Amino acid sequence: MACTKPNNTFKTLGGGVPVHYDRMNPPFHYGSKGKQFTLAAEKSLENLLDAAFAELWQKCPLGKADIILTAGAFVCKSGQHGKGRAFDCDGIWWGDRLLLTKNYRADSQAYLGVEAILRKHIGTVLNFEYNRSHEDHWHLDTGTKPGFSASSKSRVLFLQMALGKLFGRRVDVDGRVGDETRGAVRDVLEALGLATAAEMSTDNKTDKELARNWMAFLDAAAERGLATLAPPGAGAGAPPTEPDPLQLLARLHDLLKDELEDHPARKEIERAVENFAEHPEIDAVLARFQ
Ligand SMILES: [Zn+2]
Repeated sequence: MACTKPNNTFKTLGGGVPVHYDRMNPPFHYGSKGKQFTLAAEKSLENLLDAAFAELWQKCPLGKADIILTAGAFVCKSGQHGKGRAFDCDGIWWGDRLLLTKNYRADSQAYLGVEAILRKHIGTVLNFEYNRSHEDHWHLDTGTKPGFSASSKSRVLFLQMALGKLFGRRVDVDGRVGDETRGAVRDVLEALGLATAAEMSTDNKTDKELARNWMAFLDAAAERGLATLAPPGAGAGAPPTEPDPLQLLARLHDLLKDELEDHPARKEIERAVENFAEHPEIDAVLARFQ
């Protein structure tokens, strides 16, 4: 196919942080420190990425990173990559601390904290839950503008992931806004002081309030998620990262769902956990953390 490679190139982002390619043979393989690379992309994308990473360094307790790992930007193929309007991010190194997108399950809070900042600047973000091919990188492109829409699968997935992992709500991560997701959105927007119950009295109004408060929601998500990237021993001022019982229960549900996907006893095990959680005395304890 015919492609026009953008004339604009860059090899650092966010104020001088080198961008390294980590999709080569060892020692430059995926998740290594990679090798600095010159990427081609439209200037408008570069500017947005610059602003996104600069804000990330400012909000992250670890500050400015040392390396941004990439799987590429302009590639002669269909879609936004072929137009020089897409960038794939594999991970970020701060010293010896690596946030690697493939480690989402083990590092979900930091992952979502970073994604929250990226979403403030870049419209289209495809992540770990979007599909198999995005489990090992964030795909970032300028095909859409930042903001929330209940009909956008990638945005709803992020919302559900954040509600579960950062705000301790139990919601299925299925990319569709239903009663469960809206209930959690109402709770969280109210708890954050962003909207009142009266302002969210219908589904439509709830979606509108979420869209109106999307940037503030992303800020709150970033604050919670990035706090888990605090350097060891940085106790003063850092919010506690110890999960509460509701978060522990949500984690257990996630694990069962992921690990027992095709297991014949999955339903039975899930029901047993449900029964335990719904026992009046356990329920009363859990209610204290709602
Ligand atoms: Zn991509």
